[in-house]
Amino acid sequence: MTLNAQPKASLFIDGAFVEGEGPELQVLYPYDGRVIATLREATPEQVARATESAARAQKAWAALRPVERGRVLARAAAIIRERGAELARLETLDTGKPIQETEVADWPSGADALEYFAGLGPTLTGETVPLGDEFVYTIREPLGVCAGIGAWNYPSQIACWKAAPALIMGNAMVFKPSEETPLGALKLAEILIEAGAPAGIFNVVQGRGAVGAALVTDPRVAKVSLTGSVPTGRRVYAAAAEGMRHVTMELGGKSPLIIFEDASLEDAVSAAILANFYSSGQVCSNGTRVFVQEGLREAFLARLSERLEDVRMGDPLDPETQHGPVVNMAQAEKVRAAIAAGISEGARLVSGGPGEGRFVPPTVFTDADDSMTIARDEIFGPVMTVLGFTDEAEVIARANATSFGLAAGVFTRDLARAHRVIGQLEAGTCWINAYNLTPVEAPFGGVKQSGVGRENSAAAIAHYSQIKSVYVGLGSVEAPY
Ligand code: NDP
Repeated sequence: MTLNAQPKASLFIDGAFVEGEGPELQVLYPYDGRVIATLREATPEQVARATESAARAQKAWAALRPVERGRVLARAAAIIRERGAELARLETLDTGKPIQETEVADWPSGADALEYFAGLGPTLTGETVPLGDEFVYTIREPLGVCAGIGAWNYPSQIACWKAAPALIMGNAMVFKPSEETPLGALKLAEILIEAGAPAGIFNVVQGRGAVGAALVTDPRVAKVSLTGSVPTGRRVYAAAAEGMRHVTMELGGKSPLIIFEDASLEDAVSAAILANFYSSGQVCSNGTRVFVQEGLREAFLARLSERLEDVRMGDPLDPETQHGPVVNMAQAEKVRAAIAAGISEGARLVSGGPGEGRFVPPTVFTDADDSMTIARDEIFGPVMTVLGFTDEAEVIARANATSFGLAAGVFTRDLARAHRVIGQLEAGTCWINAYNLTPVEAPFGGVKQSGVGRENSAAAIAHYSQIKSVYVGLGSVEAPY
């Protein structure tokens, strides 16, 4: 079977597909490495053309009533839902994630973001600040041209999560997807035009890191929103700072999932599975350090192993497939190196193992030390480390002993304890008796090295707008001389 996902052209600039003039970029189906599309990167001139087109379009877009901008976003969401099946298939081809995931998680979550911000935008107002006889009023203004740069794990969701708040606030965006998964953002650009967006307000440039770097330092770019790893985040943040640009950094994690003895075993096991193996473990907020209170640890491991025996791995396009490949061979090797480190550093392998080719099965370690590689570094693959603990204070201290701070979860039937523990965890996104649910209504983001800023919810608005403060003088002006 040939799998063709070739877009009309590689880039989307000023409302139209444009062929890239840079080096070739082959897009592979992660399941078997078949070429599904061949793209060309943007040249620096094409990146500049994209930001110019965004800057041109932005002023008129910002001058529309918010309800008019919202209408475009809402229509785009409706189109995404109508074409759900086709878009899910494309996302699966691009990422290798099981179709049973991409049908419910990826584009649907992107559509939620477009709908949410479509509705929120028209409700946003400024303030008046009374000063006796006079007053100040404030206006939330757009920043201008925003650069969005995405990771490969949720390419379409990331594009929508960044585009929706940016566009509703009257900004324009130039988006660079990961070179691994370049197709979804092009679809979003096409859909926005179909939904009535003016040319230029959402552009897509393709390429590797150098194209992202050219975009970040473009003088027309006022804001950079990156989803990526901590090292890339550091580089992009520093480059953005040169031009005093605003930033949102959604970076990596090594999040703790804490399970107390009184938790429901079945729910805790389900949550640990969702927190580690969904999208073959390529989820930034994954709870990869699973702290299980000693009294429950063996039962937890036994039930977890039992549940993992039945996992169906295979072609992600098969609706029966529950666990797909990781995104490419290099990532598979990276994950395998982490598994090898776990074994050589003395942890006990309970389930899974290195796998073959691009496939790494759900893998569980225990009897590990907090200082081991598997318990310390972000692996970005299906590898869980189950760590034992005895008391609350101890587990809080160990959970926080990391430079990351993206997410955290607690399982217990004692709600007072749940809130007490969550209150002390150094993480931006937390769950009690749940894990990895990220509804658009809730702020999402990290603390410490895991990032700055928040996506989703009304909190995202602050990161795509700036406040103009206007003092209104109503009396005579007194000067000393
Ligand atoms: P990378 O950090 O490797 O890349 C992220 C994006 O930045 C890619 O589009 C990449 O391009 C681009 N890029 C690389 N170098 C530069 C540069 N100097 N200037 C501008 N752009 C650059 O991340 P991955 O794609 O490997 O994604 C995995 C990481 O993303 C994990 O650490 C994960 O935790 C994190 N992540 C965080 C999320 C969050 O919301 N907190 C959500 C999802 C993932 P290219 O790939 O083409 O080289």
